[in-house]
Amino acid sequence: MIKYPMVDLVGQYKKIKPEVDAAMMEVIETASFIKGSAVKQFQEHLETYLNVKHVIPCGNGTDALQLALMSLDLQPGDEVITTSFTFIATAEVIALLKLTPVLVDVLPETYNIDPEAVERAVTSKTKAIIPVHLFGQSANIHAILNIAEKHNLYIVEDTAQAIGADFTCPESGNTKKIGTFGHIGCTSFFPSKNLGAYGDGGAAFTNDDALAEKLRVLANHGMKVRYYHDMVGINSRLDTIQAAILNIKLGYLDEYAKSRQEAATYYNKAFAATNKIKTPVTASFTTHVFHQYTMVLADTVDRAGLQKYLSEKGIASAVYYPVPLHLQKAYRDPRYSKGDFPVTEHLSNHVLSLPIHTEMTVEMLKEITNAVLEYVEN
Ligand SMILES: *Cc1c(COP(=O)(O)O)cnc(C)c1O
Repeated sequence: MIKYPMVDLVGQYKKIKPEVDAAMMEVIETASFIKGSAVKQFQEHLETYLNVKHVIPCGNGTDALQLALMSLDLQPGDEVITTSFTFIATAEVIALLKLTPVLVDVLPETYNIDPEAVERAVTSKTKAIIPVHLFGQSANIHAILNIAEKHNLYIVEDTAQAIGADFTCPESGNTKKIGTFGHIGCTSFFPSKNLGAYGDGGAAFTNDDALAEKLRVLANHGMKVRYYHDMVGINSRLDTIQAAILNIKLGYLDEYAKSRQEAATYYNKAFAATNKIKTPVTASFTTHVFHQYTMVLADTVDRAGLQKYLSEKGIASAVYYPVPLHLQKAYRDPRYSKGDFPVTEHLSNHVLSLPIHTEMTVEMLKEITNAVLEYVEN
């Protein structure tokens, strides 16, 4: 029996139940399931929160990424650079649109895309870069913006795991929400994400009026005037019920991030006692909203053994991600082979994520850290 799961969405719901139930009931009682007023309200709320001109709600985070790439008028064979250490959705949309994913390695400290590797990967066919802000902190978006500017490339930020995190530009000292630096930012409202719906949901955001218009049309069957289709689009909407729930949860997002940060601080302090664990490092230019608490185990620690030990004590753990993109069956490519991305491959074999969510207590953290330490120190 799992006593301490990776996330506790039931515990979180119980605290906001009256508000959420009322908002959901209103949608049901008015039968405004599609494009109801809550969608617009949530859109505007998120625009204000992110300080971005346009939010385009859609069906899920993968759709947001796909819509973003569709809006850029890329041609088959155009190259899109992204990280080898991410959830598959990032590369999937590139491949689906018959674009060529070009993978690069990550940095060992932050697990985020290595800007120098991005620069080396640029060719005459490169059209866009998709940096992923993995596990809750920003990639070095300043360095990536510089590369994009130099080579005239688009940037689509995948901020599915890091909504709410702030990036501070090391040059200007300006702080902005991540996802608002590139041409388009994309996020997911998958239930376990930091801003989670009670089903699927996603959004793209941009400060560019023309791109915003195009994203909206593409998400709506390529249709601006009803039944007149100007381009080939898709059907991707955020349900009104989900928007109503998200609108409430957005009000708690910063508080939720704080709970996650407190849990991460507890873990970091507890694991400072051992050299068998490398705790996650937050880069100087970003805040960390800890979508995941992901540590790197020493070579001498048997990861599967530790997971089994924890599981026997009712403690969940997970490996994000066990297989790098270039070693996935569907993405096998003669350009890549084992050993090409040593940092990613090392992380895939050594990372372990522990429960982190908005309902963690000191007792839980104590039990989890004690169990981990017992195992790695023996
Ligand atoms: C969750 C996630 C997505 C996809 O989001 P969905 O809403 O599940 O489609 C994309 N990229 C990253 C990095 C993610 O973690």
